[in-house]
Amino acid sequence: MDILGIVGKAPGGFPILFGGTRQTIKMSRVHQMPLEGLVDPANCVFCKMEPAKVAEETHHIPGVVEPRGWRRLKNAFTPHPDHRLIIPEICWSPGDLQEWGGTSGLYSALIMAAAEAGDGNEKVFLVNVGKSAGQNQGHPHMHVFSGIIEGHRGIESTSDFATKATHVASDNSFDIFAAGIHSGECQILPRESDFDLKKTLNLHALASAMSHLVRRCNRAFASEPMPIFVDVATRQAVVSQAMKPDQVAILNERSLNGELKFELRQLPPPWSMAVRVSGEGKLLYASYAPDLHCGSALERCVSIFERVPFVLPWPHEMTAEHLRSFYKSQPLRP
Ligand SMILES: [Zn+2]
Repeated sequence: MDILGIVGKAPGGFPILFGGTRQTIKMSRVHQMPLEGLVDPANCVFCKMEPAKVAEETHHIPGVVEPRGWRRLKNAFTPHPDHRLIIPEICWSPGDLQEWGGTSGLYSALIMAAAEAGDGNEKVFLVNVGKSAGQNQGHPHMHVFSGIIEGHRGIESTSDFATKATHVASDNSFDIFAAGIHSGECQILPRESDFDLKKTLNLHALASAMSHLVRRCNRAFASEPMPIFVDVATRQAVVSQAMKPDQVAILNERSLNGELKFELRQLPPPWSMAVRVSGEGKLLYASYAPDLHCGSALERCVSIFERVPFVLPWPHEMTAEHLRSFYKSQPLRP
């Protein structure tokens, strides 16, 4: 049977199918909700935590001084025995959450996460931004826990997906490639195999590379204009996680009073990032995934059970070319 597209490989060896008649980056995301619907400091379980509860839930590491304004909490709802949540003390604005606090926010969290690395267990650090990308509490939180698969050592071969055409950007520490089982995914690979996350300079370099990528992708993957209810006074989108009839009535009244109006807005994408760390505390890779398109039954079961190719809505080469144009103003090495 003739195949229209090209079969390639994602990290981990999963086959992907792309190209053919699918040659356009699509930014229609009707399933997306603005972050304002998730951020709710007045009802936030972390912001409202009593001091006694904070003390009880805090996980202390002997000899480690935490950055000011940050907490390391035990996670009560997890199958992982060493699962922590690294959080700022207060909620961030939707704009700050979209960038995960920029380089400084990511750096503070990475310092705390790295304090748990190097104990012989592989670690994963995760951040999710936006409901459809897996964020279920509006308060920013980085998950940190040990990997549970013995002998799993990161990405074994990069030659299948790290090519000139999928190259997005490089700096002194990292090469970034568009690669993965979803369009828009990017992998941040350390240039040295010995990238020690116990060194603060390395942590800052990683936070900076992650932040640069996120900020560029927030612009590069902005959605098509979507109709949003906006507060005329604050310019904030007005949405709720679970709209109840009385809330709808209030919105209607405010709209009739001229306090709210519909606007067309382009939304930056929901996204998630995973940082994989060896048992010795060395960076294996960091993986960025914007939530740009929905999967299907093929990706959910057949591709995973039987390694039938994941079908991408557009090729990684197109993502890389698109993102390179957003990196032009930065002093990055090709
Ligand atoms: Zn909060």
